[in-house]
Amino acid sequence: MIPNPSPVQLKFLGGAGTVTGSKILVRTERHSVLIDCGMFQGLKQLRLLNWEKLPLNYDELDAVILTHGHLDHCGALPMLVKNGYDGPIYATLPTRDVTEVILRDSARIQEEDALQANEGGYSRHHPARPQYTEEDVDRTMPLFETHDDNEWVIINEDFKFCFRKSGHILGSAMVELVCQGRKFVFSGDLGRRRPLLMEPPYLVKDADYVVLESTYGDRRHSEKSPYEELAEVVNLTYEKGGVLVIPSFAVERAQELLLLLNTLKQDKSIPPLPLYLDTPMGIDVTDLYLHHRDWHSLTDEECETMMRDVHVIRNFEHSLHVLDKKGPKIVIAGSGMVTGGRVLYYLEQLLGNSQNTILLVGFQAPGTRGNLLRSGSDELKIHGLYYKVHAEVRQIGSLSAHGDQADLLWWLEHFKKAPQQVFLNHGETQASEALRLKITDTKGWPVTIAQMGVTYDV
Ligand SMILES: [Zn+2]
Repeated sequence: MIPNPSPVQLKFLGGAGTVTGSKILVRTERHSVLIDCGMFQGLKQLRLLNWEKLPLNYDELDAVILTHGHLDHCGALPMLVKNGYDGPIYATLPTRDVTEVILRDSARIQEEDALQANEGGYSRHHPARPQYTEEDVDRTMPLFETHDDNEWVIINEDFKFCFRKSGHILGSAMVELVCQGRKFVFSGDLGRRRPLLMEPPYLVKDADYVVLESTYGDRRHSEKSPYEELAEVVNLTYEKGGVLVIPSFAVERAQELLLLLNTLKQDKSIPPLPLYLDTPMGIDVTDLYLHHRDWHSLTDEECETMMRDVHVIRNFEHSLHVLDKKGPKIVIAGSGMVTGGRVLYYLEQLLGNSQNTILLVGFQAPGTRGNLLRSGSDELKIHGLYYKVHAEVRQIGSLSAHGDQADLLWWLEHFKKAPQQVFLNHGETQASEALRLKITDTKGWPVTIAQMGVTYDV
């Protein structure tokens, strides 16, 4: 221990009181690092924050440490670079690769949306402009410095850190950070006890301060098997002769769905319906699974099953022809919360017909179209127009890349002694509050719900 260690400050610049925009600034008297640099999504008041310059001195930021490649954790990196950051971005190798796919897609979507909004005249901003472009992503990627898990990395005299697998998506890692003789653990997004494609999360034994995500802090995932839940929805759509559209995150969820659906077909639990994967990003990420074999738990046979009989659609022109072919089919398309991407084009054509089914399989943040569908909205605004929702909307709760309340408590169970403080972040307020109560009641540990913009001295 360092005698009289100087104070360390934690400041949550996003991912507090919400599940998006994750950014945690850790500061000593001389240095600072940023854990994650995510994009805000969902409610407009959150999305507007994406345009604001971060309240930090870009010259004094020594490093960014990235837990994983989801947009809400990495999506603001090009903005950071645009605003002058040129230091290292530390990540695991698969996270670097996933991040590149995600950021390029995000830049493309923003450029396309701005173009369409200007052409269609439905933007309130004149002219509408993207937050960043692929050129900004080109400037961001060379800053990446990759490290294996369990490898200690010394950043400077104040900070050293180590990645530990977190069981959430390909490459995802929690961060153990040692600073001024104190150990901090940032969970990033924490996977379930028994993830479908990953090893379970690394079990941390001790830490002085824990920053724990709380996306599902107030919920238990369905006990049902995802195979059964999925088969039921596929068979229902088949009987109606409709199309099943599954809006999906490109990373992890799309691969899980491919594996589950192809296994069900193989077992003859569902009919051999044509299966389309229409998310260019999902296709690229699926390739990454085949490259980074140390980072998932699939056998070669399962990898092969995952990709069997999948019609992969790279080209937007082909997307428009998928629905020309008659008969029931399954389409997996991005984005997962229906905030953008190809899924919008399918919904424009399919929402109005009750034969079709929209299946929601992941977290739907407030303010997203996915959340509106989930809560039974009877119309949906897409590309400036309103569409009536007559298609059946279903959701299944057994697929999640996040641990539920029981998983989060199970992970904490492995600490040999109480941390000095647990901070809960990455959750809607009621979810964080439910988890705070549960930890306080069962363990008696001090728990604080992280507030956006507040500095905590530890
Ligand atoms: Zn995530």
